[in-house]
Amino acid sequence: KVKALKKEEDHSAMGKVKNIIAVASGKGGVGKSTVAVNLAVALANTGAKVALLDADIYGPSVPKMLNIENERPQVIKENGQEMIIPIEKYGLKTLSIGFFVNPDDALIWRGAMATSAIKQLLLQAKWGEIDYMVVDLPPGTGDIHLTMVQTVPLNGGIMVSTPQEVAIADVKKAMSMFHQKTINVPVLGVVENMAWFTPEELPDNKYYLFGKDGAKNFANEHGLSLLGQIPIVQGVMESGEKGVPAATDTDSILGKQFSKLAKNVI
Ligand code: ADP
Repeated sequence: KVKALKKEEDHSAMGKVKNIIAVASGKGGVGKSTVAVNLAVALANTGAKVALLDADIYGPSVPKMLNIENERPQVIKENGQEMIIPIEKYGLKTLSIGFFVNPDDALIWRGAMATSAIKQLLLQAKWGEIDYMVVDLPPGTGDIHLTMVQTVPLNGGIMVSTPQEVAIADVKKAMSMFHQKTINVPVLGVVENMAWFTPEELPDNKYYLFGKDGAKNFANEHGLSLLGQIPIVQGVMESGEKGVPAATDTDSILGKQFSKLAKNVI
């Protein structure tokens, strides 16, 4: 569970952001962004004020998943400083590094440019009053992760993995970064994505395409909570492509699953 942090008085743009939750993974393609976006929507569905920050420099997918690819955030001048106005969609305030970095240039954006972009998105944006900010981190570990933990107080990280051994092995590495002495961010738990597949015509059958309970067992072995198990559903992919997150439909199977996930987090 997210525990409210005792923050020192913070006069930056982040001053009214109460909780910051990072969504991380060992590997790319395991559904980290899908989980981040739907968790943010599910948290907003509870009535909380929610922000979603897409910090995945290597594959910023939030603009597509929220159908705001063609929008550009406005920049205003306030007390002599330029401030970015987050875009509002599905009850979320959101910004993506994808608005500022051409994904084709991601590799040359490594290092100083990427870290200064992420700092601006955190500190020079008008987030206003926010109960939960969900951050979609790049996969693995790197400059963005370090910048995040050095710039703002994180409440904790959520690790997303598929059940496969290879994915789990990388989660371990990514998790060890959070636990380093100088960083020391608690891991709130694990979300097992693509946990099984159920065909529509055989609703009682579960097929464990990527192995059974890999992430669940990993969570148990490491004394972590299993925050959710999300099945493979064609609709997840389609809703991502269409820019309407599955969690916006609270009556759907996935909508229910993501609201359970949100309840496990807060
Ligand atoms: P990551 O952020 O880890 O790189 P994404 O969230 O972008 O991963 O997901 C990768 C692809 O897998 C996307 O096309 C997404 O729609 C699809 N996907 C993710 N989770 C599921 C799921 N539970 N069922 C079906 N497709 C999924």
